[in-house]
Amino acid sequence: MEQQPADGTRFDVVDPATEQPIGAVLDMGPGQATACLDAAVAAQPCWAATTPTQRADVLTRAYQLMIERTDELALLMTLEMGKPLPEAAGEVRYAAEFFRWFAGEALRIDGGLMTSPDGRSRLLVTHQPVGPSLLVTPWNFPLAMGTRKIGPALAAGCTCVVKPAEQTPLSMLALLGILHEAGVPDGVVTVVTTTDPAAAMAPLLADPRARKLSFTGSTAVGRVLLAQCAQTVKRTSMELGGNAPFIVFDDADVDEAVDGALAAKMRNIGQACTAANRIYVQRAIAESFTAALVDRMGALKVGRGTEPGVHVGPLIDGDAVAKVSALVADARARGATVRLGGQRLDMPGYFYPPTVLTDVPDDAEMACTEIFGPVAAVSAFDTEDEVVARANDTEYGLVAYLYTNDTRRGWRVAEALDTGMVGLNQGVVSTPSGPFGGVKQSGLGREGGFLGIAEFLETKYIGAAR
Ligand code: NAD
Repeated sequence: MEQQPADGTRFDVVDPATEQPIGAVLDMGPGQATACLDAAVAAQPCWAATTPTQRADVLTRAYQLMIERTDELALLMTLEMGKPLPEAAGEVRYAAEFFRWFAGEALRIDGGLMTSPDGRSRLLVTHQPVGPSLLVTPWNFPLAMGTRKIGPALAAGCTCVVKPAEQTPLSMLALLGILHEAGVPDGVVTVVTTTDPAAAMAPLLADPRARKLSFTGSTAVGRVLLAQCAQTVKRTSMELGGNAPFIVFDDADVDEAVDGALAAKMRNIGQACTAANRIYVQRAIAESFTAALVDRMGALKVGRGTEPGVHVGPLIDGDAVAKVSALVADARARGATVRLGGQRLDMPGYFYPPTVLTDVPDDAEMACTEIFGPVAAVSAFDTEDEVVARANDTEYGLVAYLYTNDTRRGWRVAEALDTGMVGLNQGVVSTPSGPFGGVKQSGLGREGGFLGIAEFLETKYIGAAR
């Protein structure tokens, strides 16, 4: 890759549709990663001193370059992580929008002024960049999870070291090239590519010069990183795993609910933190909903994401296929019925077919953990109270979906669901203008919306005698 020097140990990036390498990147160790932090620390004062307009202009140019290069970025993404090309192009546009959004936010960093109650001093409240930030991202949205952090970090005046997932470094390196072309100075954004993230990142997480960690990934890894950050009391933002309930009441429009379930389940081949993990349908419409879902999921074409008409690409790797297969086997053993799919496909690549299971019991493993695959786990419910209790019975709290045509019920249930986000009669909640994030063990902090930039700002209050 042009963004990396030619020398040094490299590792292969594999196309999950063919199991063949498509490129190689540097396998960086702790020393090289520390050099990235050194660069971020050195660049911090100059970047913090840029004007809001300069930072907004750079982000706007990066947005424009991403949009101009949508097709090539989408192809790279499809080759390294498998999602179908139209979906990859959708992610490029979604990812670019974070730069456009935070270009605007860079101009709106505000403060406050008041007189103390005793009249003796003025209280001036300002915001300053947190400082050099570590940004660690997962493989499932290789660009968007990066821009959702890089956008607010740069807008706030923070330099950053980005560590993409080992499965998808190519998209992030392509983005780094775009950022440089857009005018981001050397050292302001650097990228650590490595097969050993724990070893490479340990010195950075222990380094007091790194003032912030923004992490998106699994809850298990998030817990470990939070503990590491405690040693130097870093600011943290944690976007962790989910176990989204998708609730359909019997007064809902069944066709709309099936559309929403398809979007919430099949986006990214089911590999999204926001994926509908437990689908609860009120008993009177459970069969009509399930039959329609089976029809729609059965019609989806499985194949390499570069082929026209493909809806369902491969999972990210062999471990993912093994995990999904084991979850399906467990649910069947506990009494679930397979209505569609349910068997790994006999073809090269990490493919798993669209699968619908009914009567999935609450103690099935797939009801308690992220499925991260194209498997819809449906079960029936009777009452509102029952389904809210079942929906909330999890350590996760990222997002919930509910379908109803009763407005009062919609508000009531949305407020009772213990999640950071709710999709009310819609199967997608992700948008740069919304504060994305979870409660409970799904995370800390919010990305996007008006709150996103605050994650990269410190509040300073100056008390001045009158
Ligand atoms: P993961 O937790 O395995 O890895 C995430 C990132 O952390 C990767 O870059 C990985 O290399 C790095 N990492 C792992 N161990 C590390 C360590 N000890 N030190 C430093 N870095 C380390 O997650 P994944 O498999 O890449 O992604 C899937 C997970 O991400 C799912 O749980 C999904 O729900 C979650 N996710 C959450 C959101 C959200 O916004 N809440 C969005 C997308 C994905």
